Amino acid sequence: MAWRLGIFGGTFDPVHVGHLRIAEEAREALDLDRIIFIPAADPPHKVQRKILPFEHRWRMLFLSLAGNPHFHMSDIEQKMAGKSYSVLTLNELRRKSTGRENYFFLVGLDSFLELDTWYRYRELFSLAHLVVMRRPGYKEKAVETFLKQSVSLDYTPDPQGRSFSHPSLFSVHMVDNTHLDISSTCVRVLAGQERSIRYLVADEVMSYIEYHKLYSDISNERK
Ligand code: ATP
Repeated sequence: MAWRLGIFGGTFDPVHVGHLRIAEEAREALDLDRIIFIPAADPPHKVQRKILPFEHRWRMLFLSLAGNPHFHMSDIEQKMAGKSYSVLTLNELRRKSTGRENYFFLVGLDSFLELDTWYRYRELFSLAHLVVMRRPGYKEKAVETFLKQSVSLDYTPDPQGRSFSHPSLFSVHMVDNTHLDISSTCVRVLAGQERSIRYLVADEVMSYIEYHKLYSDISNERK
């Protein structure tokens, strides 16, 4: 029996309810057996600011995922040396796989439209299905343009324009997920200003942030 595995990478600094809800909606839409959240140990795209140590981000993820039998987490990127490049992570996952896994790489629309800045990004399309989740402020129409201009002209949209197939690469699927205008940046800024973050993150994460006084040195990062 084949396993349909969602792979959801991110900085998760901190994980918020937007991450959780879009992952749940992607799981349901694509009938995935599991979603594996993979926090980046050394994210290449967030170099302009200080990132919380992996252990804090890992523990907040652990607190958030508890209770959902479909949600799992992996520290594979912490065990791999060097920058956390998704192409290397997917290769490593495939190397360790039993051969029954079908990989679905989950990515928000904002990140998807920047994929051409990622290390060896074209290879991602031959390692896993791509699952694009809507995000406020980003136009879904740009997905097709991006695919054709930056990956391959041979993508064909389905009649609804919700997925794109390719003769040799994996397909790209769009999820009609709820628009949730929530970001880790906005959580960090609010926490830094000692304002409420209740309902933007799981209650346990809110308590964790308060207890450890995380983000207390941040008050003017742009939301
Ligand atoms: P930051 O504000 O620090 O940039 P972020 O909220 O974008 O963080 P990340 O951990 O960088 O969170 O995101 C991991 C993945 O989740 C990325 O693919 C991102 O596009 C996606 N994502 C995060 N929040 C949302 C959201 N509210 N809606 C859709 N996708 C999201």
